Amino acid sequence: MSAIEKKLQHILKSIPEEVTLVAVSKTKPISDLMEAYTAGQRIFGENKIQEMTDKWDQMPKDIIWHMIGHVQTNKVKYMAPYVDTIHAVDSMKLLKEINKQAAKNNRVVNCLLQIKIAAEESKFGLSETEAIQLIQAEEIQHMSNIRITGLMGMATFTDDQKQIKDEFDMIKSLFDTLKTKYSELNTLSIGMSGDYQLAIDCGSTMVRIGSSIFGTRN
Ligand SMILES: *Cc1c(COP(=O)(O)O)cnc(C)c1O
Repeated sequence: MSAIEKKLQHILKSIPEEVTLVAVSKTKPISDLMEAYTAGQRIFGENKIQEMTDKWDQMPKDIIWHMIGHVQTNKVKYMAPYVDTIHAVDSMKLLKEINKQAAKNNRVVNCLLQIKIAAEESKFGLSETEAIQLIQAEEIQHMSNIRITGLMGMATFTDDQKQIKDEFDMIKSLFDTLKTKYSELNTLSIGMSGDYQLAIDCGSTMVRIGSSIFGTRN
């Protein structure tokens, strides 16, 4: 068993079956991704469209690609032919462009609304109020090539478990509120290498794990 396969199996054992694992492979070479693929992993997450598209080009076509990074509107067209889920959607403008490009490719793209839960100023995302306004917008009901399937959040980079838990609890509570009205919401994407156990305790349905599978990045 390769080192990557060992770490992957270890992670899979530590998460419940109903929690989806996105293997975050950004900056890693295709040979590393192929080790995870050979071990059975099919969902990969990348944060740069160019890098993801290069990998998509060269890798098996049954891989399910998730864009987990911030997306510039003018680059949506490059991933529209193949991307499965976009995690960091935070504006109507971006939703419109995803819908338009997905339509050109005769596809439906899953979108997660990124909620700003971290205290840090630099993080992208919507406030609770903005997310509610966006999901309720009349325009969205007519966009048939996108599906808003859930929420995504990134907790503050801190050792303070209480703070991380509070941030996860906040997004879980928004998720539960919205779910009562929007039956298509089924994904709560929270949890990375450092905090995925806590995220699962807080109700995560999808974890995005990179360094604990592929090793640290430069
Ligand atoms: C890089 C990244 C991850 C994975 O981080 P690790 O700490 O390596 O597990 C998860 N989510 C997002 C949005 C990322 O950019």
